[in-house]
Amino acid sequence: MKILYKTYFFEVSMAVNNIDVRQQNKINVYKMVLSQDKIPRQKIAEKLQLSLPTVAFNLKQLIESGLAVEDGQLFSTGGRKASTVSCVPNARIAIGIDITQNHIGFAAVNLKGDVIDSIRLSQKFSYTADYENSVLDLFNNYTATLKIPENTIIGVGISLPGIVNPEGTKLMESHRLGIYEPAAFEFAEKINHPTLFFNDATAAGMAEISKSPEIQHAVFLSLSNSIGGAIIINRKSVDGDHAHSAEFGHICSIPGGKQCYCGKAGHFDSYCSALALSELADGSLETFFKKLELKDTVCTKAFADYIENLSIMICNLHIIFDTTVILGGYVGSYLGPFIDQIKQKVLELDTFR
Ligand SMILES: [Zn+2]
Repeated sequence: MKILYKTYFFEVSMAVNNIDVRQQNKINVYKMVLSQDKIPRQKIAEKLQLSLPTVAFNLKQLIESGLAVEDGQLFSTGGRKASTVSCVPNARIAIGIDITQNHIGFAAVNLKGDVIDSIRLSQKFSYTADYENSVLDLFNNYTATLKIPENTIIGVGISLPGIVNPEGTKLMESHRLGIYEPAAFEFAEKINHPTLFFNDATAAGMAEISKSPEIQHAVFLSLSNSIGGAIIINRKSVDGDHAHSAEFGHICSIPGGKQCYCGKAGHFDSYCSALALSELADGSLETFFKKLELKDTVCTKAFADYIENLSIMICNLHIIFDTTVILGGYVGSYLGPFIDQIKQKVLELDTFR
């Protein structure tokens, strides 16, 4: 019995391994096609060290499922015309829903990771059936405007400003949304596609990384109406034992300082969220930066303080992680003209410059 058991186990594990290898080959061939504009079959075989029949088998499946297309014989190599293949980026679409305190955003992302459509609407959050029904209606209206077949949508990612459980099925807590008990939203269950919840800053950080294949490790600092972040090691988000990692907004910058929305004092969020600037310009970040350009005294002083606090945080993150720090969020999109100034400040503070 013992030997039979072992033999059986061996056969099963071999079978599983063969399936794994075949599945992995298919994934690798698809990734190769996805990463290039057009690629000859021969080149796929060479790069992946697979036989031409294996490549042909996998390409046939990808073409039949609409994920790839044969381009024909477009160019010559060594006198022979090479048959090239390319991916069909819009063959499958993922939908993103971004829920914030006062807005809801929808985006459609194709297989290349390109945002092909997006919309942002005013919609005040409340943990009520009415709100959930309106999100579902807005989702259905949005997907209808895309005019794509239902089976093109492969899944829906829902980002929230709070802590999400590791399975991505519940919002565990969100000070911003006033959620202090685990919340499973019914609207997500009514969407006819696989849905997953994500922390907003983690989702944004991973989106940045997905477009930068050269980056292996990074720290993402999201400077929106609340501050969040993501720690990315080997291109994977490190969420911590309680999914609380990278909540940089709640690092104490100034002991006993301004009150943070979490209830404690002196947190980085109170000094460097987008609200710290927009509250000086009728709630508009765009207006703040226009006033700054016009050398408004109050805005100039506030921005100097902002850069000071931000530079200290960047320096601290750099000392802890010794890797690239990516600035994102609402404020991040305005920081381009000031990046040299910020770098200079960080260099002055950094022990290891
Ligand atoms: Zn706080």
